[in-house]
Amino acid sequence: MNKEVQQFLSNKTKGAFINGKFVNATSEKAIAVVNPATEETLSEVVVSNKELVNEAVQAANHQLENGDWSKLLANKKEYLLLKYADLIEENTSALAELLVLEHGKLLSDAKKEVSAAVNCFRYYAGWATKIEGSTIDVSLSGGNHFAYTKREPVGVVGAIAPWNVPIMMYAWKIAPALACGCTIVFKPSEETPLTSLLLAELSKEVGIPDGVINIVPGDGATTGQAITNHPLISKITFTGSSATGRIIGQNSAKLLKEFTLELGGKNPVLVLDDADFSKVPGGVAKGIFYNQGQVCVSGSRLYLPKNKFDNTLADIASIAEKMKLGSGLDENTKLGPVVSKDHFNKVMNYIDEGKQDSIEVVTGGGRAFDKGYFVEPTVFANTDNKAVSVATDEIFGPVITAMPYSNVDDLLEKANATEYGLSASIWTSNLGNAHYLADKVKAGIIYINSAVRSDPNLPLGGFKQSGIGSELGKSAINGFTKLKSVCINY
Ligand code: NAD
Repeated sequence: MNKEVQQFLSNKTKGAFINGKFVNATSEKAIAVVNPATEETLSEVVVSNKELVNEAVQAANHQLENGDWSKLLANKKEYLLLKYADLIEENTSALAELLVLEHGKLLSDAKKEVSAAVNCFRYYAGWATKIEGSTIDVSLSGGNHFAYTKREPVGVVGAIAPWNVPIMMYAWKIAPALACGCTIVFKPSEETPLTSLLLAELSKEVGIPDGVINIVPGDGATTGQAITNHPLISKITFTGSSATGRIIGQNSAKLLKEFTLELGGKNPVLVLDDADFSKVPGGVAKGIFYNQGQVCVSGSRLYLPKNKFDNTLADIASIAEKMKLGSGLDENTKLGPVVSKDHFNKVMNYIDEGKQDSIEVVTGGGRAFDKGYFVEPTVFANTDNKAVSVATDEIFGPVITAMPYSNVDDLLEKANATEYGLSASIWTSNLGNAHYLADKVKAGIIYINSAVRSDPNLPLGGFKQSGIGSELGKSAINGFTKLKSVCINY
């Protein structure tokens, strides 16, 4: 085990990181963080109670209103964010290994995730000096007028994150918030809080003032609610399931907080007859099995033309059958465990429902190994297009359901027949078809001839029940600032 990771895990109960230091546990409740490949407990993490959340918010508010952070020039913020990115990059080995231990993903993917976080911090470092308003013509009588707008930090941000890409979520929320001059109270998921605590510790070494980044591990009912209910938090940035998103939206609205909700999806993969079928099976498999299918934009509903249905499914099944399951730390592994026992049970229940609904299992459909939360990569063929749970619900596991369609109108109708609208991937070699379908599919992000990926400059947000607002790109800058209008009479 990496020495840094060993040292980090030697302290068996971890507390919140508030105002630049780890706080001793005042709450009696703690949650075990379990390695999903071995089912062994790695560490315990305290559930931050209302009092601890309040301490974190007070520290963040002090930095926002009167602290060093509030006085720091934009180019100094840029410098600190760049330094932070460098330090995260230097610590790739430790962060990636800790991520594999708490989450189960492949070490190679964990390293890519750290690299994506580094890129995100560098990208938003650049924004710190480029936040601007505009001059506005006004038609007011009585003297001359000069009017302009400026963007100010939205305030103390409360961030609530899921477990599927913990390091990326840390970067997606903290980097733009800090670039905009905000301070933050961040709640990682109860399943994967360790990497956020290690990242926060690193922020101290860089010289980001104490109280700017605060990490409050805990569950939704205690810690999450304390964040959404705190009157000094001006904005909630939430990523997670649509069910939790609705509760958070309601709680935020009660106090008239700003909020963005990045939620779930049951994302369609639309394969046209004119697609390059030498690339489709590999692309589809990557789109569903990456990170064990625990990606909000994973393509889990596959629509194939009738004449290509059986052959394409056979090719995807053959890729799935060759995937070696095992610990993410073993470099031969191609599919790790799902994140937790609860999630394993949820995914297996969906697979059982599919079988009970008489949907054909083309491959997989079972548990692998007696120990660890391993689910076989599973392909269902729903040839009669039944509205069953494996075809309609977000499973968030390595499970794909394929359905045949007869023509493009039929394809569009089926692809849009969902409450979700997060992402879609479209496979075609015809440019006209690509543009036509990209216009007509109701989803926030669309990829043509590739599984969906993310880039710091490309906004990501959901349509319909997949969210409100978007993250990344310039839209995050707008989300973490408030517009102020100033008018001078001279
Ligand atoms: P979840 O909704 O169960 O939990 C997300 C977070 O909310 C956790 O930190 C949890 O502790 C907290 N929480 C739960 N109840 C709360 C409450 N009442 N008040 C405040 N906080 C509360 O989601 P999850 O299982 O951790 O993550 C998986 C989900 O996240 C999937 O639906 C996936 O699609 C979604 N996701 C979306 C995106 C996106 O960008 N749209 C990205 C990643 C994951």
